[in-house]
Amino acid sequence: MQTNLPTDLLATEQGQTADKILRSCVHCGFCLSTCPTYGILGDELDSPRGRIYLIKSVLEGNEVSKDTLDHLDRCLTCRSCETTCPSGVEYGHLLDIGREVVEERSPRHPLQRLSRYAVRKSLTTAWFLI
Ligand code: SF4
Ligand code: SF4
Repeated sequence: MQTNLPTDLLATEQGQTADKILRSCVHCGFCLSTCPTYGILGDELDSPRGRIYLIKSVLEGNEVSKDTLDHLDRCLTCRSCETTCPSGVEYGHLLDIGREVVEERSPRHPLQRLSRYAVRKSLTTAWFLI
């Protein structure tokens, strides 16, 4: 896939990795057959290929909309799509990068940000699990 990431992002390791992964996708759609969210919802934007387009758009500097957030939030991060990709696209790695950038620029309500932070922190802190 052709990409047009901004030069300041391409100057970072994260940007270079994302660009390489994006360019390895050939839009074939084989991954759709093993994606549970696409299987249930039937929406291209809830498929790996659709989410790759959304991440590409965000990394190229386009707006992060509520719809973009919803489609990326619905991804289970199961990486089942990677098992059927003939091009070896590292979707999980791209998703991590995309989510980080989206989180920085997202239109989430501050309370939602706070509750997500609290859940993430509590689930990854040892004292909470004792
Ligand atoms: S990680 Fe799982 S839910 Fe997300 S796009 Fe891939 S197959 Fe679908
Ligand atoms: S199977 Fe791989 S190359 Fe084909 S659309 Fe999905 S991620 Fe892209």
